[in-house]
Amino acid sequence: MLDDMLDYVANIRERPVWVPMPDAVRQHFRAGISREPTPLQDVHREFMDFVLPYAGGNVHPRFMGWVQGGGTVTGMLAEMLAGGLNANLGGRDHAPIEVERQMVAWARQLFGFPDDASGIFVTGTSMANLLGVLVARTAKLGKAVREDGIGQTGRLLRAYASSAAHGCIAQAMDLAGFGSDALRLVPVDARACMNVEALRIMITQDRAAGFEPFLVVGSAGTVDVGAVDDLRILTDLCAEQNLWCHIDGAYGALGMLSPEIAPRLDGIGEAHSIAFDFHKWGQVPYDAGFLLVRDGRQHYDTFASPAAYLRRETRGLAAGSPWPCDFGPDLSRGFRALKTWFTLKVHGADAIGATIARSCALAQYLERRIRAEASLELLAPAQLNIVGFRYRAPDPDRVNAEIVAELHESGIAAPSMTTINGKLVIRAALFNHRTQIFDLDALIDAVLRLGAEATRRQ
Ligand SMILES: *Cc1c(COP(=O)(O)O)cnc(C)c1O
Repeated sequence: MLDDMLDYVANIRERPVWVPMPDAVRQHFRAGISREPTPLQDVHREFMDFVLPYAGGNVHPRFMGWVQGGGTVTGMLAEMLAGGLNANLGGRDHAPIEVERQMVAWARQLFGFPDDASGIFVTGTSMANLLGVLVARTAKLGKAVREDGIGQTGRLLRAYASSAAHGCIAQAMDLAGFGSDALRLVPVDARACMNVEALRIMITQDRAAGFEPFLVVGSAGTVDVGAVDDLRILTDLCAEQNLWCHIDGAYGALGMLSPEIAPRLDGIGEAHSIAFDFHKWGQVPYDAGFLLVRDGRQHYDTFASPAAYLRRETRGLAAGSPWPCDFGPDLSRGFRALKTWFTLKVHGADAIGATIARSCALAQYLERRIRAEASLELLAPAQLNIVGFRYRAPDPDRVNAEIVAELHESGIAAPSMTTINGKLVIRAALFNHRTQIFDLDALIDAVLRLGAEATRRQ
């Protein structure tokens, strides 16, 4: 099994990025529960025949869709070790917990957070943003909110994020009991960065109307085009207005690992909390989301839930309080920290930073190639590692949707699509450390050919 996976990663270029699943393969997964044992090698064979060839493709260098990391063999091997240990990172006194604590310390160091800042691994940034909103809620309404609910005061609270922010912020407001309408969307400038003057006016107007602003969510790398809000101005404004400043740094925050990119994130170290993923730009295999909170006490107060069966001791396995389960809703937790720890140690944080900077340079190369082609229109220039463009055609939405579907189904490349200023665009997000210049050339060449064909089919 190990050999097969090493071969899979080593020879990934020989495969199509993605293969549509034949009906027979899909049908294979409709069989009922297996009551009798099946030899391991048979189930492995099934995996090789029915699962592996039809995976999503994000290990592949020409996978450029959405925001997805490519993983590493280092991370994969660490996952095997974690699986063997079968550690439960909810709490107690054992070395795996110390590995996670070391990761928390490294995250503090990376963002210049104080020693009493807390952190926790979660599935992804969607979850980390929800936890961040909950900590802001407790900080604003006090611990009693956990028994009383948000009440009348809570109903008047208002949060702010740019109109380019990820949809999980509105969902977090919904899940936290405020309702998604309590998130006010601030207009953005031409680069999709938050218009902070507009934010200031909205805050003033909301206060005048009897609402109570409490939270601003800044974006460090928007999902559509990689825009970074002006985090210095934003954190200053939050300090002046006494608002919680949370940063959705899902992928962009790890730009701190690159001396070239870090200045773009200036101010992030002043935030109250930061959500980010090691599984995107950090190249750690799924899943490895993270929440960092400046004031560890507020974080603890939001989630710690004493229970007789989770009694803390000063001796024995039940020592070592506080435990990770005091900083989030999960009690049983896997060892996400190990693959992250291995990735940072084996490759070195500088190499991850260099990969991040390189993906931004690749995006600039792609942008130059697009600008040089008369039949292509650039709609989202490279701010970080994402480029949005489309093929010029009388019927551009149809043609570009067809181009992307053909790219996927042929297995040549897998960009995704989004809408920019009402226009459907091809979106190339370069996260995979395996991607090379010639992969971008292959993408452009295929778009030009498929675009011409789709236009002729009109
Ligand atoms: C990916 C992403 C998210 C969601 O993170 P998950 O890890 O997929 O839950 C949130 N915000 C931004 C900007 C993202 O890129």
